[in-house]
Amino acid sequence: MGKSSKDKRDVYYRLAKEEGWRARSAFKLLQINEDFNIFDGVKKVVDLCAAPGSWSQVLARKLRVGNAKDDDVKIVAVDLQAMAPIPGVVQIQGDITKTSTANEIIQHFEGEHADLVVCDGAPDVTGLHDIDEYIQAQLLLAALNITTHVLKKGGNFIAKIFRGKDVSLLYSQLKIFFPLVSVFKPRSSRNSSIEAFVVCQNYSPPDGYIPNMANPLLDHHYDLDYNNLTGPNRVIVPFLACGDLSGFDSDRTYPLQLPGRQYEYHAPTQSPINPPYQEACQLRRTDKLSKPEDKLAKPEDKLAKPAD
Ligand code: SAM
Repeated sequence: MGKSSKDKRDVYYRLAKEEGWRARSAFKLLQINEDFNIFDGVKKVVDLCAAPGSWSQVLARKLRVGNAKDDDVKIVAVDLQAMAPIPGVVQIQGDITKTSTANEIIQHFEGEHADLVVCDGAPDVTGLHDIDEYIQAQLLLAALNITTHVLKKGGNFIAKIFRGKDVSLLYSQLKIFFPLVSVFKPRSSRNSSIEAFVVCQNYSPPDGYIPNMANPLLDHHYDLDYNNLTGPNRVIVPFLACGDLSGFDSDRTYPLQLPGRQYEYHAPTQSPINPPYQEACQLRRTDKLSKPEDKLAKPEDKLAKPAD
């Protein structure tokens, strides 16, 4: 393939190099700003999932103009990956799902909160659309969560979203915190991609909301933390345990002979009609289940076996 073939195929890729952006995604943020003026009056901004840094470059070029090329403007970029330095951008190599990362951001703002949070986060794509959409949705929720720690009331939040089949649930979650949520597809984002960007304006958390990044599955401090939460921070739904102690315990092993019941083996009522493992079972039965190394071996390797 020729050196310039990608330049020909992808005009934004070519323009990014011409204009000195580290990635073509720079144009997405520039185009979001053209429509929503998200940089107006912004002095403190957080770029979540920032590497290799084209969005941070845009922020630096747009916000640190004229007299403001000083401490007036603070840009903090966060990513799991290290990224090459950008003048005027403070980098945190960290995970956006961690409270420690939120605290570090606030430290850089000397205890103050951001005017704007942007997030172009993307997990490594698996190619399995349902899984990719699910992981992207989880990353967006993690970005929203850390944003509730670091964004000032009235601030804006921009994030990448995959418009998959369950996207309206995400919109509803964003609407809890932002009265105005729009979805924007920049021209530089390929039509073939389900990627778009949510522009969430005027951060207004529910009254009494306390940001919290605890994960009940991983952090086992239920008694200490969760039971002390009140108001909008604690949602309680009725928990109903059905039956009583006279029923069988589904976690216990019982002897085959139960009091008052004669044991007799019964085949399962309905076996699976077309189980996915059927073909493998058949191949194994006939010894045709090939081993990976047999498949990979080239025909000439099989023929020319060197003499010992
Ligand atoms: N906006 C960037 C730019 O313009 O150069 C491109 C961002 S790239 C599409 C997505 C980034 O998300 C990757 O660098 C990846 O490391 C980062 N990422 C994914 N999960 C993350 C997490 N939990 N915490 C921090 N960064 C994360």
